[in-house]
Amino acid sequence: MPSIAVGLVAGTLAVAILALVSERRARSAAQTAQARFLAMMEATGFGVLVVERSGRIVYGNNAAADILGYPVHSLMKQNVYALLPGGVLDAPSASPLRRSLGYQRPFVGRDHLVDIRGNLVPVAVTTAPVAGTSADEGTALVFRDRSTEVADERQRHDALSMISHELRSPLTSVVGFSNRLERSLQTGRLEVDEAYAEEIILLAQEARRMRDIVNIVLDVANLERQREFVSEPVLLRQIIDEEAGRLSRERAGATFRRNGEDDAVVESDERYVRRIVQNLMENALKYAGTAEPVDVTVETERTGYAVRVRDQGPGIQPADRDRIFERFYRATGGTSGGGGLGLGLFLSRRLSHRLGGTLTVRSEPGDGAEFTLWLPAEAPLEVPPEQGDEEADRLIW
Ligand code: ADP
Repeated sequence: MPSIAVGLVAGTLAVAILALVSERRARSAAQTAQARFLAMMEATGFGVLVVERSGRIVYGNNAAADILGYPVHSLMKQNVYALLPGGVLDAPSASPLRRSLGYQRPFVGRDHLVDIRGNLVPVAVTTAPVAGTSADEGTALVFRDRSTEVADERQRHDALSMISHELRSPLTSVVGFSNRLERSLQTGRLEVDEAYAEEIILLAQEARRMRDIVNIVLDVANLERQREFVSEPVLLRQIIDEEAGRLSRERAGATFRRNGEDDAVVESDERYVRRIVQNLMENALKYAGTAEPVDVTVETERTGYAVRVRDQGPGIQPADRDRIFERFYRATGGTSGGGGLGLGLFLSRRLSHRLGGTLTVRSEPGDGAEFTLWLPAEAPLEVPPEQGDEEADRLIW
């Protein structure tokens, strides 16, 4: 009997010891995993914060502390909203970052200007929801100081716009004279042999292409400098007719049909409305060719007007439809438009938003493309922040 008791005691002891050992092992494995995780977080070089739903910071690494300008030990238990005081400058109450923190939505890399000890620092932020019980669910934020990259980009950009600016006046002469030569050929005032005539036409085309590139680079540069917009009555018909006239003179065989409202007037910035309409009409010729006329229709829509530019070309593949508005994006399939920078639609959509309007596209592959510029009849009192526009905060990317 005693031997059974001893056996029982020994058994219980052995089980307890095993449990203790495995608990120790589990604890030490958890500690190792945690140490590895923390080392990894430090090694990324990115600022990392984990915040609870209330905004309370439960984890922050050294890079996060550096970017935010606080000692790392004082980050914990602070509230992230208090740490980014008006710091997230763009529309603090409704900023996408704040919303993503509040609703635990993933939010991908936009630049925010964060006020760090009086300096506005561009910071790229990405967030991801952390699942858990309602008490500890929250958000992980990863962010990166981009001031050096932004300064480099600015420098490159400034150099490019300076060169473009210098090129503009000599190019105006080259385009003017080569256009004149081309027109003389077309009207028969100049008679040369066929090969020479082809060279003159090519010269005029290439000069215009160069002018278009220079103009677009300068316009994008202006966009980034946030040039002030003026507000004046703009007669849409006049812009369409003038641009159609110019393009038909420049491209042999190009024809436009204007339909719809004759007297539509919007209160807007003439220069920028013209730039958008011009881009759309040029693209229609560039991608659909001149075999069919391009239809430009003005219609009353909601509290403003829609200008629709419709061509009969190859259209745009569904996968490209949203992407063609991205900076430098050029669709390859089905387009035979020759060279380009992929900036025209990016610029046009940004400008349309600045004017309080929208720029959209409808297209079935093989059945042409229809771009619609919608503009409010009255200039908005305040230009709305470019919500829903994925590029909105990425001017400095
Ligand atoms: P770029 O003309 O310099 O490439 P854009 O931003 O104007 O730049 O256009 C982006 C892309 O959209 C073009 O590369 C082309 O693939 C496509 N695209 C634009 N307009 C049309 C159109 N009317 N028909 C078919 N594709 C078009």
